[in-house]
Amino acid sequence: MSDLRKGPFHLTNTLTRKKEEFIPLRPPHVGLYVCGPTVYSDVHLGNVRTFTSFDVLYRWLMHIGYTVRYVRNITDVGHLLGDAADGEDRISKGARAEQLEPMEVVQKYTNGFHAVMRLFNNLDPSIEPTATGHLLEQVEMVQRILKSGFAYESNGSVYFDVPKYAEKHGYGGLSGRKIDELLANTRGTEGQEEKRNALDFAIWKNAGPEHLMKWNSPWGVGFPGWHLECSVMSTKYLGSTFDIHGGGMDLKFPHHECEIAQSVAADGQVPVRYWMHTNMLTVNGRKMSKSEGNGFTPEELLSGDHKLLEKGYSPMTVRFFMLQCHYASTLDFSNAAMQAAEKGLARLMAAMELLPGLKASETSDADIEALGSRCYAAMNDDLNTPVMIAELFEGVRIINSVNDGKMSLDAARISKLKDLFDTMVFDVLGLRKEKESDGNDSVLDGLVQEFISMRAEAKARKDFAASDAVRDKLLKLGIVLKDTKDGTTWERG
Ligand code: AMP
Ligand code: ZN
Repeated sequence: MSDLRKGPFHLTNTLTRKKEEFIPLRPPHVGLYVCGPTVYSDVHLGNVRTFTSFDVLYRWLMHIGYTVRYVRNITDVGHLLGDAADGEDRISKGARAEQLEPMEVVQKYTNGFHAVMRLFNNLDPSIEPTATGHLLEQVEMVQRILKSGFAYESNGSVYFDVPKYAEKHGYGGLSGRKIDELLANTRGTEGQEEKRNALDFAIWKNAGPEHLMKWNSPWGVGFPGWHLECSVMSTKYLGSTFDIHGGGMDLKFPHHECEIAQSVAADGQVPVRYWMHTNMLTVNGRKMSKSEGNGFTPEELLSGDHKLLEKGYSPMTVRFFMLQCHYASTLDFSNAAMQAAEKGLARLMAAMELLPGLKASETSDADIEALGSRCYAAMNDDLNTPVMIAELFEGVRIINSVNDGKMSLDAARISKLKDLFDTMVFDVLGLRKEKESDGNDSVLDGLVQEFISMRAEAKARKDFAASDAVRDKLLKLGIVLKDTKDGTTWERG
């Protein structure tokens, strides 16, 4: 815990809208829950931004000495299209479209999500629970909410009674929505006659014969509500009140607002002490999303094969581009910004290569201790990665000046600078070297060429599942294949 003395760590709590000192409930343990993906399609770069922001939080908490239990779920049922009460389940829609079993869809996109997370060097969470793996617990939570009187059964579904809950406990505190305005702005329950009020949301939904994913329950055959899943999985592994809950800003309402209401209604406990919401990746000012058609996949980004891309960019260039922006600000994607990030990252990495060979002097002209303190101060100030990176560039200037003989540093300070860079660049920002100069590439090239031939053979016999599997397996290992008109080439992701 000694490193914590460099703190305290402050985090913007979106519940209070204030930057607060972070004090965990049970130090040195920290419980962190982040809403994971709904695995019905490929993740896009916007999703990657959110999970990367939380990866940096996870890394920082561990770096300053906490033992973190990081729970990030997989949503594999219950998340309806348009988040509407009667929309089709996203996984079912995927299954129909691809003519697969729902669980095949879940497996396929969970694998894809994991490969993308590794590509961008995001650490695995401690627990990755799935909604379908926690049905009993969800039924039990519905029962507790029914018992407390804040839900009602209607035609085989169970709805959360928002007006009744709001009257007793208040509703809208996280998102800043006012219940009166919400009630005034909601349309009638037309088409949703099962509900008493349009604001009410299903915590258990009846399933007709057309539904692919359904289970028996005390209320008949159905499936759990999306909001309920996260309440169940977070509190099961982190306790009825836990430290940090995160997600993208777009999940604040209704998803997270509903999570709070469910926990208070079921267990009388406010579930979360610090809420952290990350801002959106945009393209020309519009949120990147699947439905807008402006969301490219990580693969397209690497190959440059998308109308918005002038060329391909490496995973670490993308990570660096994202971390040069504070997590709470919107970040607009542009080729110019990506190319600037590419140059910046190359400068940073080149300086790091020089560090071990720098010539030590008797005297020193730079205060490395102060530089390190400023890096810690930036990260402790609400994970201010752009300021921390700016400090690292001050370090780059020092390294280059010492290398050019225009400045001097003694051996102890060179070693301190190297430790600082290794820690901040690799451990905290989670960047990694992309170009290896270790001479093994000819062996590696031989191996990858074997895989490229295997994939070409599979393609030739139209076994696209096999050819995709080869590509995905290589991607998992950080090898990215590119199909060009002259054949397939590869590079390290
Ligand atoms: P989903 O699978 O749609 O539930 O999204 C997974 C996560 O990605 C959620 O936390 C969303 O808030 C987040 N997300 C979706 N679109 C974007 C975007 N354009 N920029 C940043 N995060 C996003
Ligand atoms: Zn969630």
